[in-house]
Amino acid sequence: MGVSAPRVASRHGPAVQRELQVGGLTPFTSIDYPGQLSAVVFVQGCPWRCGYCHNPHLQARGQPAGPRWGDVLDFLRRRAGLLDAVVFSGGEPTLDPALPQAMAEVRALGFKVGLHSAGVNPQRLQAVLPLLDGLTPCYANHKMTLRVGGLTPLSTTDWPGMLAAVVFCQGCPWRCGYCHNPDLIPPRGENEIPWDDVLAFLHRRQGLLDGVVFSGGEPTLQAGLVDAMREVRALGFKVGLHTGGAYPQHLAAVLPLVDWVGLDVKAAFADYARITGAPGSGERALASLQQVLESGVAYEIRTTVHPTLLNDGDVTALGRDLAARGVKQYVIQAFRSQGCQDVYLNQHATRTQPLQAVGATLADLFENLTVRIA
Ligand code: SF4
Repeated sequence: MGVSAPRVASRHGPAVQRELQVGGLTPFTSIDYPGQLSAVVFVQGCPWRCGYCHNPHLQARGQPAGPRWGDVLDFLRRRAGLLDAVVFSGGEPTLDPALPQAMAEVRALGFKVGLHSAGVNPQRLQAVLPLLDGLTPCYANHKMTLRVGGLTPLSTTDWPGMLAAVVFCQGCPWRCGYCHNPDLIPPRGENEIPWDDVLAFLHRRQGLLDGVVFSGGEPTLQAGLVDAMREVRALGFKVGLHTGGAYPQHLAAVLPLVDWVGLDVKAAFADYARITGAPGSGERALASLQQVLESGVAYEIRTTVHPTLLNDGDVTALGRDLAARGVKQYVIQAFRSQGCQDVYLNQHATRTQPLQAVGATLADLFENLTVRIA
């Protein structure tokens, strides 16, 4: 990347190459760089002494307790293709003169680069900005706030049997052609509703609603989901979740706060990218299904059926596979053109035989099988 390694004077001779001072390494996280599966490199040293710091052991300069930078690179080489990004956190990464070189090496391995910084060294921060894909101000004392793209005040259908408000979370990493909420796919929306406004609304609905459903978009993309669910529970509401299962680890983290989950299973797991446009999405969805089944949380597994994407044989095979994996509650729902921006899918949605007929062939495999028609 054209970034030269920093050199420092040695008492014993010519300048020697100085490597990044690593205070710790998190091999895998889904929340430190929202929307990305990341490793986190904690850089040793920070000149500030914020009372709320949750990494005080990283403040001191020198004698870092983490792995050598070369060992971190070896670890990352083994994770190429399995992680999206590497986040440099701290401590304060911009203090370390080796940061630009380290970022360039990480990029050369094919990872995106994220940075958590309080901007302690503005010149170095400026220098590394061209190497960054994501920048998060130091947020140790600030909870991540949920980005909300829409709110339905009252729904009787999004959580069967419950009167619920639906909070539509902004952002989704997948690109399903039949998505009926495409405005929610970008990480930021044009008409976001401040989370505090959502909470104020829910205060006024206490005693009038049973629950709140977090839908999307993909709610588990957002690091703010956990705090938002806690706040909703504290108001006395039950919590529902609609998810495609794009982030199984984050899903596992929020499931203890969830009373009911509607998990989309879009296709045979080996064939997922044809629907989502995202390589590896089937593995993530399968891991999420296993999380839900093992959690004991009430659930509904749902498959949206468009006749050009899933033929009747595909639906039957998927239903059998899900039953074999232990699914008891299954819903087959017909494609709805409402909101879908794919002209081809909208024009070719006519079925040759009713979806109920396909459902009838699977009914004996589940405790409950529902066929929903638009
Ligand atoms: S996973 Fe859901 S929100 Fe994301 S693109 Fe697919 S249908 Fe739309």
